[in-house]
Amino acid sequence: MKAPVLVAGSANLDFVVRAPHVPAPGETVLGRDFATFPGGKGANQAVACARAGGVATRMLLALGDDPYATVLEAALVDAGVATHIVRAPDVASGTAFICLSDDAENAITVAPGANAALRPHHLPSLFGVTHLLLQLETPLDAVASFAHVAHAAGVHVLLNAAPATALPPLLLQDVDLLVVNEGELAALAGPGTLVAQMSRLPVPCVVATLGARGCVARRGGELFLQPAFRIDAVDTTAAGDTFCGALAARLAQHAPLADALRFASAASALACTRLGAQASIPARDEVDAWLAAQVEAPDHKAALAAYCGITGSD
Ligand code: ADP
Repeated sequence: MKAPVLVAGSANLDFVVRAPHVPAPGETVLGRDFATFPGGKGANQAVACARAGGVATRMLLALGDDPYATVLEAALVDAGVATHIVRAPDVASGTAFICLSDDAENAITVAPGANAALRPHHLPSLFGVTHLLLQLETPLDAVASFAHVAHAAGVHVLLNAAPATALPPLLLQDVDLLVVNEGELAALAGPGTLVAQMSRLPVPCVVATLGARGCVARRGGELFLQPAFRIDAVDTTAAGDTFCGALAARLAQHAPLADALRFASAASALACTRLGAQASIPARDEVDAWLAAQVEAPDHKAALAAYCGITGSD
């Protein structure tokens, strides 16, 4: 298969408990059912990319020497992701503790564990790689170094700047496409309308995901609006990750940006209808079939444009 995507990032085992609401600081909430799911932004995005089909997906990750590592590796292999694993002895694999409320809100605490062991020299050969997909759950110096090496080699660098954090000063110079949610965008670009915030970021293409509203992208001076698809959300845990992985897969197959945004929106909407991170990510056929049955209402686009601060002159 051509145009492979390399994802470099985190893998965590998610410990998920459902509860009536997410606890406030100091509060104890009596939850209900409990389950573990393979997760972590990097691994979720790699699985989303592989399930989106059409491109070979590889992932660089670090795992501990514990039973969780076996589960995390098996989940990637099952999804068809080829792995480059850095073994971190004497460290636990990454874990995340997730409280999921009945109205599909979540609160997440991540213990990075082995993910913190990823170093700049761990980047594998980029031979044949056209797209590198990065997030911020692994050490920032490694993320910045991976982006720099890949950019210099002519690989398209996609950064999902999540979770929100201050970026190394030169990182954005090596990024071709940045994906952020509203909170992450505000953290990077300061206040203002979404369009003003996006125009402040020095990258060729910025995609802002807006939860149930949809997403907006700026490429150069061109704006793209994709309203979200209407679904009954059960668990939005991996919505952003599904979006990023699916977007990378479609772009690596040379899909036009508008088509890639539509596909990523459909994949992430479907992921919201199911529990779990990787377990909820749909496959290509399912997304295509579902998309074929969707009708997009023009008033949704107008509402999204207004929300983004797009005026007639934008
Ligand atoms: P994150 O999970 O990173 O905060 P968002 O909440 O913005 O990211 O969600 C990413 C994408 O997932 C959105 O742009 C949208 O396409 C889709 N999505 C998220 N929540 C919903 C929802 N309730 N209904 C439909 N689509 C959703």
